[in-house]
Amino acid sequence: MLTEADAWRSRDLSVVWHPCTQMREHPDTLPLVPIARGEGAWLVGHDGRRYLDAVSSWWTNLFGHAEPRIGAAIARQASQLEHVMLAGFTHEPAVELAEKLLAIAPQQPDRAPLAKVFYADNGSAGVEVALKMAFHYFHNRGETRRTRFIALENGYHGETIGALAVGDIPLYRRVYAPLLAEALFAPSPDAYLAGAGESAEDRARHSADALANLLDQHPGEVCAVVLEPRVQCAGGMRMHHPEYLKRVRQLCDASGVFLIADEIAVGFGRTGTMFASEQSGVMPDLLCLSKGLTGGFLPLAAVLTTQAIYDAFLDDSRERAFLHSHSYTGNPLACAAALATLRIFEEDDALARNRATAKKMAALAAPFGTHPHVADVRQAGMIVAFELTQDGDKRTPFPASARIGLRAYRAALARGVVLRPLGDVLYWMPPYCVDDEQLTLLAETTHAAIDEATA
Ligand code: PMP
Repeated sequence: MLTEADAWRSRDLSVVWHPCTQMREHPDTLPLVPIARGEGAWLVGHDGRRYLDAVSSWWTNLFGHAEPRIGAAIARQASQLEHVMLAGFTHEPAVELAEKLLAIAPQQPDRAPLAKVFYADNGSAGVEVALKMAFHYFHNRGETRRTRFIALENGYHGETIGALAVGDIPLYRRVYAPLLAEALFAPSPDAYLAGAGESAEDRARHSADALANLLDQHPGEVCAVVLEPRVQCAGGMRMHHPEYLKRVRQLCDASGVFLIADEIAVGFGRTGTMFASEQSGVMPDLLCLSKGLTGGFLPLAAVLTTQAIYDAFLDDSRERAFLHSHSYTGNPLACAAALATLRIFEEDDALARNRATAKKMAALAAPFGTHPHVADVRQAGMIVAFELTQDGDKRTPFPASARIGLRAYRAALARGVVLRPLGDVLYWMPPYCVDDEQLTLLAETTHAAIDEATA
């Protein structure tokens, strides 16, 4: 007898093409799980099975699935105004959200604060906006030689052609390389790559020195440095010392180049502070936000920028204006979800709760440090990552053909936990509502998944 879950699987596979998936692997190598509903940190399948969403559904979810306060805010907004184009019109949620985002954005004592918000409708689109804005700023000022971007090795900024061009993960980039604008790549400050006797902070300094050289080699050619502060997430949850961003800020200022902080994944409390840039005391010129912005309910992106950048577009000519537009720019439902999300941060004192949760995660993660296949256990706030290698040292990764990540994924899923490894890196990035019992399940399952995958 075909179960309800089987029926959904079969209907899906006859019509849906899934993201980030070799479809050939469905459903035999890679299970396809029809989800009926969400409940806090749980996803519930059509077969009634429950799965702990330890990766917050691609890092979007903050306060749990079907969080009633966010759901209610969207419903209220839907009965008022579902959408209106944001050119020539405005609406309450877009205005209020912009005010609130600017009020909580990272600041730096010596700089004029971020002053304007440009909306888009997903993370990659937000990155496109920031790149185009940086380039167009210089163009408007007659600095037309500034056509290049500096990005970091092992960085990730999304899958559209512009965002891919500043990404450095071969799996996503390689095929499309002939289509991509040529970015300059600076060494990653990744602490995992620190050499013998080199501390994380040393690594940060040395990488900043390399960036300084790159800037020197291309005087007047670069519009902006774009990076993920604190954690290169898609690159395997690789973490770096906050000193790096501090240095990059200084280097950007010295070369007259913008700093674009892509906090799409690390923003909204993921790394312990509201925004990761705060840990370096740095205010970027362009700040890209998405994912957790709506608590994981709806696609929305916001690019925060300075008055100075905004002013460079003011003119009588339309060509000097920033004409970039998406139909759903500043969608009222998504803005209402974002406003509800920001209210929850206050109502629940979420950052303080996260500090306590992060301590529990640290305690549960510590024993993995002595596991024979774990080369590194690292943490930044609500993100914990485990680097798996053959001998538990950094020199001997598993061959890709061993499919360690896939095996760990299947082992965890069979135990009711969604761990979706990045290569051979397993990580925890749970919704902030995760409780002690769920954390214990997560730690036990991770242990079992590593053992099973590496057996
Ligand atoms: N930047 C970063 C740092 C990301 O992690 C992601 C998504 N994983 C993106 C950009 C792209 O966002 P989206 O998937 O919404 O296009």
